[in-house]
Amino acid sequence: MLVDTGRHAAHFDAIENLLTARHRPLVAIVNTHWHLDHVSGNIRLKAAHPGVRVYASDAIDGALTGFLADSATSARAYIAAGKAEPAQRAEMEGDLSTFDHGRELRPDVVIAQATDLKLGGHRLRIALARNGATAGDVWLYDPATHLVVAGDLVTLPAPFLDTACPQGWAKALDQIAATPFTLLVPGHGVPLTRSQFQTYVIAYRHFVACAGGKDEADACANRWLADAGSLIAPTEARLGRGLATYYVGLLRGGSPARYCRA
Ligand SMILES: [Zn+2]
Repeated sequence: MLVDTGRHAAHFDAIENLLTARHRPLVAIVNTHWHLDHVSGNIRLKAAHPGVRVYASDAIDGALTGFLADSATSARAYIAAGKAEPAQRAEMEGDLSTFDHGRELRPDVVIAQATDLKLGGHRLRIALARNGATAGDVWLYDPATHLVVAGDLVTLPAPFLDTACPQGWAKALDQIAATPFTLLVPGHGVPLTRSQFQTYVIAYRHFVACAGGKDEADACANRWLADAGSLIAPTEARLGRGLATYYVGLLRGGSPARYCRA
């Protein structure tokens, strides 16, 4: 089984190489959420592995007519205006082509609540967080190995709050903390120990509280780096600071009002 399918041909090739090396059929794909860096590979993988079933929440339905449709419209306008650099244009065209096949990204099996599943002979707990990093985030707990696969409920070098309800996200982090995991695979970044995850949760809470207050955005970004710095590679600190500053603006601009509605 595979959790998330990447965005680019290079991701697809890496997955295929892994499957070839394992000499095992691919039977299940779990999509943690609908962001295109997590689901775009579904289309090619389903074609290459007939019979594979995709498990995910139904949140992509809203995204296909909302966020992703809006992104596609602005990407087309940006390209038409000749504003895109060649590499950026290639990236946008890749996403547009994925969006054009958007219905093929949808799950075969909708995860509508926490459930125990046996995938490829392996028993897993699949949990659903509503209104977290997206309207429906799926995360997994493997009781045999005490592993959590968190999707974008844990991302570094900053929480990716583009389509997030910050309070729902915090609730999901508490639910993850309540499982007896020892290692956590984030959506972006290297695996975290339990104590590193606790550091992340504290940093996340402080950051969201700061964004809801009156401090300068820079001060909130500094706070984030001070709290989460031990989890962020020195080479990523600058990016983390920039993202954190950007997300303060996004949260203050009313993004939660849009993504926290039931
Ligand atoms: Zn992501």
